[in-house]
Amino acid sequence: MCWIFAYNWNEDSIWYLVEWLRNLEYRWYDSAWILWVNKSWDFFIEKSVWKVSNLASKIEKNTNKLNNYTSWIAHTRWATHGKVTELNTHPHISNNKRFFVVHNWIIENYISLKEKLSKKYTFYSETDTEVVAKLIEDLFDGNIVTTLEKVTKQLVWAYAIAVIDKENPNVLVWAKLWSPMVVWVWKNWIFLSSDLNALNKIATEFTTLEDNETIVIENWKYSVFSMWEEVSKTHEKIDENTEIADKWKFNSFTEKEINEIPSVLRNALKWRINFDTKTIHNETLDELSKNKINNIEIIASWSSYFAWVVWKSWFEELAWIKTEVRVSSEFLYEKFIPNKETLYIFMSQSGETADVRECVKMVQQKWCRTFWIVNVVWSTIARMCDSWLYTKSWIEIWVASTKNIIGQLAVLLLISLHMWLKRDLQVQDSKNIIEKLAELDKKLEWLLEQHNHIKTLAWKYSKYSNFFYLWRNLVYWTACECSLKLKELSYVHAEAYSTWELKHWPLALVWPNFPCIVINPKSIMREKTISNVKEIQARNGTILWIITAWDTVKDIYDDIIEMPKSHPILTPFLPLIPLWIFAVEIAKNLNRDIDKPQNLAKSVTVE
Ligand code: GLU
Repeated sequence: MCWIFAYNWNEDSIWYLVEWLRNLEYRWYDSAWILWVNKSWDFFIEKSVWKVSNLASKIEKNTNKLNNYTSWIAHTRWATHGKVTELNTHPHISNNKRFFVVHNWIIENYISLKEKLSKKYTFYSETDTEVVAKLIEDLFDGNIVTTLEKVTKQLVWAYAIAVIDKENPNVLVWAKLWSPMVVWVWKNWIFLSSDLNALNKIATEFTTLEDNETIVIENWKYSVFSMWEEVSKTHEKIDENTEIADKWKFNSFTEKEINEIPSVLRNALKWRINFDTKTIHNETLDELSKNKINNIEIIASWSSYFAWVVWKSWFEELAWIKTEVRVSSEFLYEKFIPNKETLYIFMSQSGETADVRECVKMVQQKWCRTFWIVNVVWSTIARMCDSWLYTKSWIEIWVASTKNIIGQLAVLLLISLHMWLKRDLQVQDSKNIIEKLAELDKKLEWLLEQHNHIKTLAWKYSKYSNFFYLWRNLVYWTACECSLKLKELSYVHAEAYSTWELKHWPLALVWPNFPCIVINPKSIMREKTISNVKEIQARNGTILWIITAWDTVKDIYDDIIEMPKSHPILTPFLPLIPLWIFAVEIAKNLNRDIDKPQNLAKSVTVE
């Protein structure tokens, strides 16, 4: 999933590498290894499955082998092909034991390549990566750079591949297609990594590699080639304020990030809205509204998808622009009918999500306009789209996104309000919303203060293995997002339905051991939802009720979590915090690793 390479580094380097691998742990992985080479070309490899700390303790026992090594590669594998075993852990080796290969992502045509190569070479692992090592041996023409070019032509995406030739470890070659690759230079040291977070404590400048570029490192220098031509790269400075992945006083990133939500909201809005004049100032949005936009298509993957559906309602209700929401993985394979008056908007927290990135490419090939909402500033997709807005949520480590969803919602609301104001209608209403938006961070803080009450409820509800999350209308999709969080973190089954749908079939499952979490804020649907709750009670269902604090009907529910009052347009923000805390506390009660849910990765960089 991730790797780091260090060149011309000293013998203490290994402990930095272990620390940097830890910086990348948030992206999730299931095995780790380090390879190091000394000036006399001796190779040493240490591998271990699961945690980086397992690798660290193995290395500690072998410190005598660390002297005089100058090149280092450290990698965490997230198994796609083949079980989590040391045998499947990289680097993979050619039959003649000469070429060592490390690879991120998936070689989609590995089965046919393996079939062909099996006639000449013996395979020992279950991975797709091993095919690359064998192919290098097969096509080797005496020059590792030209050989790698020939090899990559035979691979069906996607990859970041590094090759080391044991007979000439002074030359290291890396190629990439889609997988991100960042090059750092500091003093006379060279580092490469697949993620900006790996080295941002040490490096001050970096450059990123484009697709089909190859980097060759030799004699303390690096050169980048594209189609056999050398290309010059410009370096960008690391923002001094770049945040380091750190838990502060919290026990987990999960808890830290949920507690950051009010400041994320402030940060997403404070530069863009003047709360005194109740107006919006943003050059990107001004530029965007100069174009004729008749439709909007929103393309996003899962959690982001739910946020987008909320926005569809905001957009249609406030800006009066017909909006479609599409799941990126399906959009890619559906019939694409390009429209120059449609704005195609993309979103993914990391900016590296594989299927979203492919969608951007497809839309751009038809010369349609692309807009991007992104959190990670130098991410691949941020560099591809025509224009963008940052969510400014700071680095999000936790696999299950929380604060970034709030940042996305804030930016989405900002765009809808901006387009609304441009239509010049209902100005007073929009000022009311901006006034209420100015108070929203305090309301989110109030919700965080309810933690102990929610914790007690979570303790009570931890014994159940199934949940319904029920809601109506504009914010129905918030129920989808919160049920997803419970599944992701606690591995407990949960489903979200509109309360209206209950009678169609979900009611068949309702009984005391299948609790319903009903979210019923102040809205035109309040009374109808109360009737639906009565129907659940008539069937002895258990109900945890999320209501607005002023609500007078309280005694019909088994348990209550209260939300502050707000403008109806802002309601989707409110139930998220209590229901995320609820999911976290249930997961803790069930002894789950909340920062790293099983089998999941933060950045879904493979399709
Ligand atoms: N497909 C390779 C494997 O399963 C690499 C996966 C990764 O990106 O870590 O070993």
